[in-house]
Formats: sequence, structure tokens, C-alpha cells
Amino acid sequence: MSIDSFIAGMPKAELHVHLEGTLEPAMLLQLAAKNGVELGFETEDDVWAAQDYPDPALPHFLDYHLKCVRVLQEPADFAAATKAFIETCAANNVRHVEIMFGPMAHTVRGVEFGPMFAAMERARSDACADTGVSALWIICIDREHTAEEAEAMLDAAEPYRHQITGLGLASYEEGNPPSKFEDAYRRAKDSGYRLTAHCDCDQRDSVEHIRQCLDVLGVERIDHGLHVLDDSGLSERVIADRIALTMCTTWRPSDPEPRRLRAVKTMLDADMLVSLNTDDPSEFASRHMTHMVAAVQRVGGYSDADMVAFARNAFVSSWADRGDVDGWLADLDAYADSASSSQS
Ligand SMILES: [Zn+2]
Repeated sequence: MSIDSFIAGMPKAELHVHLEGTLEPAMLLQLAAKNGVELGFETEDDVWAAQDYPDPALPHFLDYHLKCVRVLQEPADFAAATKAFIETCAANNVRHVEIMFGPMAHTVRGVEFGPMFAAMERARSDACADTGVSALWIICIDREHTAEEAEAMLDAAEPYRHQITGLGLASYEEGNPPSKFEDAYRRAKDSGYRLTAHCDCDQRDSVEHIRQCLDVLGVERIDHGLHVLDDSGLSERVIADRIALTMCTTWRPSDPEPRRLRAVKTMLDADMLVSLNTDDPSEFASRHMTHMVAAVQRVGGYSDADMVAFARNAFVSSWADRGDVDGWLADLDAYADSASSSQS
């Protein structure tokens, strides 16, 4: 069986993907035209060409990303994005996905939280029923905003609390440490949200930020979390406490290979709960799950067993009901068995 076929058929889960990063160029251009938003792109090729973010990648990526999110204006726009992405999950055999969304980038432009989220939730529910994909929501603080604005976001989300599983922290990390949102995280924990937060790659104070996520915010997962590898004590701690690390082996058009390709294998071999995620699949050349994960296996030279282990970690780290997780793990094991027996 080819690597592409093996990865395509494997049951997969995704824990780190931003709804706003799933707008395919055709939808991006269509929404921009409908809503009268000037992006400076005429064609889909123009969109792809704009995605070769120079180093340092994070701020350049975020500048592009926040320019594009402005095309999302009406509740129907958010619903269309949700539906399209869950259908893409189905096409990639992603059985379970936990989708982050960042309301602050929308409410700051005058989008009302309630109608926006209600439309997304209806689209999620319908698309999940149509495709069989399981999907949960993670509401994300954009960390360049103030602590008070983060609390206002939680206020706006309160009527929908039962439909949102987790709280996350994303966007411009420089100068915005996790501790800035200690109060919002404490409040979220008290009201039953599951907790995660981004500690992005190659940021100033990365190790300190990971430590704050664990000690101050009390997260169960860290999004990226590459720099646990820089500190042996932190490495031992995330292994012992089973803190999940949702790494993203994305790449830009001019990257020679998936970024973090070797690091994820180091983490896997160290028995860290590391998974492979697409982050913003319509804003990176790595694209969607099957395409990205197949490239990781091919370029990294990793075994089928390694790829099953990454997928297993994603299911194990998910916030889905345990019964569902057990079912997906049984499917994954059966798939791995049948794939290996068909090769022997
Ligand atoms: Zn992310």
C-alpha cells in the first residue's frame, strides 16, 4: 500500500485547527466580493502566492491571517466556513476534530457574538449529522487583547457555554505571556471549560511561557509546545503528567520539508503525547490532514507504526466522550492490523 493510501485510509483526529484558517481561496475570494472587503488578491494563485511568510513566521502569518478573517461578516459566512471544513474532515477520514475559533477578531469589527456562534453551531450540528464526523468547539482568546476583553468574550459566550468544550489562547505571543490571562482561565476552569493554550515555536521566553501554562493557567494541553525539548525538567513533566502537545508539521511554499519534522519524532520516541495537526490548512502549503501527514511519513522516513502512534495520541488527547474515543481507537487498531497483514 502506498504511503498516500495508508494515511488516507487511517482514522485520524485533529486537535489544533483554527476555523478562520480553513477558508479555501475560492471561498475567501467569494466572501470578499460579497462583503466588499479589499484583500488585494484577484485570483486563487494570488492567494497562494501571499502565503510564503518570511521569518519570523508567526507575526507575518498573523498579519495575513487577520487580513483574511475580515471577509467573515454575516452569520451565514461563519456557517458556510464551518460546513465546508467539516466536509473536508470527512474527506480526509478525520473522525474527530476540535475546532478553535477566535471571536475577538470578529467582535472588534462589530460582528455580534450570539448570531455568529448560533449559526456556526447549527452548521456544525448539521454537518456532523450529514458526514458522521464528530466536532467540538474551542473558543480562543487572541492574546494581544486585554485581560478585560478576554473576560468580556467569556461573558458573551456564557449563554452558549454548554455548546463550547474548551478555552484556548492564540495569536501574537511576543509580550503577551500566558499569565496575562490567569483570571480568565481560572473562571473558565470553574465553569467547566477544558483548557489549552498556544506556546508557539521560536518565541521569546518559550520555556517560561510553557511553565506558566502549566503552573498559572493549569492547562491540560499545549498547542505546539515544541520548546519543552529545551528543558529536561519540562520534558519529564509533560511525559509524567500526560500533557498533550498538539504540534503542527505545516510548511510554507519555500520550506524544504515539513517544519518540526524531526522534533515530532523526537517527542514521540520520548513517549510524549504528541499529535500532528494542520493549524490553518488553507493558509499553509501543507494543506489538509491526509496531504500533510503523508508528507511527514514520506519525508521523515517514518514507519507505519509511528504514524499510527501519532494518530492514537490525537484520539487519546481529545476531549470527546471516552466511549467514542475507545471506538475510534479500536477502529485505528483494526486498520493498522489490516494494513500490516496486507503487506506481509
Ligand atoms: Zn494554532
